[in-house]
Amino acid sequence: MTALEGSMGSLPMFTTPNRPLDILAVLPELATYARRATRLHPRRGNPAAEASSVAGPLLWPEDEPWPTCSLPHLVTVRREATAEEQARSPRIRESPAAGLASVNAKFEEIRARFPTDPNVARLASRWYDGQSRIPAVAPERVPAPTIITTQELVPTEHPVPLVPVVQLRTADVPEIPFPEGTDLLQILWCPHLHTTLRGPQQHYYGPAPSIFWRTAARLAHTIAPGPAAGGVGGYVLEQCTVHPEHITEYPDPEDLPEPLQEQIYAWEESLGDESAFDYRNDLSLAPGLKTGGWPYWPETSRSVRCDCGSEMYLLLTLPNGERGADSWNPLEECSQTGEDYNEELDDPTRFSGAREGILIYICHRDPHHEPWIAIE
Ligand SMILES: [Zn+2]
Ligand SMILES: [Zn+2]
Repeated sequence: MTALEGSMGSLPMFTTPNRPLDILAVLPELATYARRATRLHPRRGNPAAEASSVAGPLLWPEDEPWPTCSLPHLVTVRREATAEEQARSPRIRESPAAGLASVNAKFEEIRARFPTDPNVARLASRWYDGQSRIPAVAPERVPAPTIITTQELVPTEHPVPLVPVVQLRTADVPEIPFPEGTDLLQILWCPHLHTTLRGPQQHYYGPAPSIFWRTAARLAHTIAPGPAAGGVGGYVLEQCTVHPEHITEYPDPEDLPEPLQEQIYAWEESLGDESAFDYRNDLSLAPGLKTGGWPYWPETSRSVRCDCGSEMYLLLTLPNGERGADSWNPLEECSQTGEDYNEELDDPTRFSGAREGILIYICHRDPHHEPWIAIE
């Protein structure tokens, strides 16, 4: 990358085709809901540390250590069952001897149904003969009943290093209001499961992002992330170059006031069943990794407010895959339609671990306030 490209942002390489229809010609009232967004079009590659990227090397302050996570993590543990757990589940309580006795009782039930069958008699002698050869276990060596469960653990001795998610230059994502004096956004996260993040879900289980606003000119140092130390596979992203493209989005119908929503549905009905497109899939939101714009999937509360009272805005949408309706496929890849699957094009970041994706919101008044994370 030349210095000029670095200061002006990445060069676009992908073009979203014109929408099949200009929705403002049909519903001019939608104009007030238009929002700018940037499709990042990630593709596997080797981004420069100065460039916008996914999971790439980063510009980094020389005297700043790589960040680590100190939040409690949800991990799978095998531990001794408590008395209460044993009482709740007879299977946990069962000792090996009791377990064998209950299997034998079932065997005897079956055997009683065929009292004269010589094959069953032969099987029975082998059944008990085999058991008699199992060495007896001294009672004190019978292990206590254990269960496999999840538990929140705070890493103390080995803090978990964060992994990079995106690095974005302001020139690439002009709709994002960077804090004054900054021009580089870095989002890293801890790729373990956490349950204590701020967001709409009562039971959030997902990665814990940290957001850094930087001034690129002050960062002489570059740093490449080491291999992730554990975590959930789908939260450790593949390294990608990004190819930002600026677009305009309109809200999902569920995010619009009812009269407008009804107008959209009535208009869609007038198109008939044979219509090759519809509002939600083709005219409102772009699929794929993007900044700004509107959120997909209106499954959670949309009145997103920071604790300071200010509105929050959608900083980043990281979905499970890039593909939406075929009408959004870049012109450069238009031959890719329908059922064809190509991991390189459809799932370049290899993000998974959410049903649909992760949305990161930040405060309008002060982007340093704690972000709000929705996992859908
Ligand atoms: Zn963590
Ligand atoms: Zn705030």
